[in-house]
Amino acid sequence: MDAFHARYPFLREARAAVEEAGVDLEAVVRSEDAVVDRARQRVERALIDREIGPPARSTRIELLSYPVARVIASLVDASIVRQRYTEAEAAAARERFEEDFADEDEISSVGTPTLDRQTLLSEFDLDSVVRQTADGFEMTVSAYLMYSASLRPSKWRLSTRVLDEGWVQISEAELETLLEQAVEDRVEEGLPLSVPDTIATVLDEPVAEIESTLEELDLTREIDTVVPELFPPCMQHLLDRVQQGEHLAHHSRFAITSFLANIGLSTDEIVDIYRTNPGFGEEMTRYQTDHIRGDTSPTEYTAPSCATMKAYGDCVNPDDLCDAISHPLSYYEVKLDDEAADHTDWRNRETEESANAEEAAED
Ligand code: SF4
Repeated sequence: MDAFHARYPFLREARAAVEEAGVDLEAVVRSEDAVVDRARQRVERALIDREIGPPARSTRIELLSYPVARVIASLVDASIVRQRYTEAEAAAARERFEEDFADEDEISSVGTPTLDRQTLLSEFDLDSVVRQTADGFEMTVSAYLMYSASLRPSKWRLSTRVLDEGWVQISEAELETLLEQAVEDRVEEGLPLSVPDTIATVLDEPVAEIESTLEELDLTREIDTVVPELFPPCMQHLLDRVQQGEHLAHHSRFAITSFLANIGLSTDEIVDIYRTNPGFGEEMTRYQTDHIRGDTSPTEYTAPSCATMKAYGDCVNPDDLCDAISHPLSYYEVKLDDEAADHTDWRNRETEESANAEEAAED
């Protein structure tokens, strides 16, 4: 078991290393709290932030947390958990193999374990169905269809691609997306696992924690109400800054845009909000918003959690309610549940105001 295996735990080689080391999974979940904790974090961060969180310093903890995370994801009775978890593992793998491929194209760093493109292609038996061309890559139609089938944007439809004698042209970035998909399929293989009771009982606590996070997030899916006065302080602050025409750093812009998309604003409505900003570029705003909404990307992004907002310095003026929640969307949900609050949707106010004005004029 080495750092390379911990970096790419889904590889057959990593699985073999764990087997060779004679690891007993039941003994690990019973006695190695750090492994269970990192495993819980992998699943929980995937659910909240669509990432697996920073790796543990210990190679053993990092590597063993992967099979334990798959067990935990299997024990939570909700397919969304497994979906987000497998997506987040694949996204982390992509980030890593992109780094390694870049190293491969330049000078490989001495002593750092890296994964080259050919090895990854062989891992998924893709080496004979992908070939490099002067402009990028080509993949056979059958392999292309297999891995692009679940990619949402219409650009992946075969009818939109250049085909040449059974080979589909793809760019380097597209090949990486297809490899990411192959990783996701690998992580997903066999899930949900059938977990013996003796292991399930020991994992009661992390599973309950994830279920409670899920409950908190689940509420947000129903939101389609826009009442800025009830936004959490961080989002009110970012919205004010947008409307005052300030330039926002990428992470802040992502936070407010994804929040607005998550609570039900359309791309046109979000673009309208940014229009008041002097640095506004309609095309870029529309592109970013469609990307966040999952219209032009494989993923529909969720606004960052409080932990991420804090890490980026975007958590501003937290109040008492902030102590009780872990996600800005949960804050907003609680505020919306408050019977006393004015729930007039922002989008209806203008209509209501002009109707009132007309009524007043008639009187
Ligand atoms: S604690 Fe969370 S909801 Fe409250 S201001 Fe900070 S990031 Fe926003």
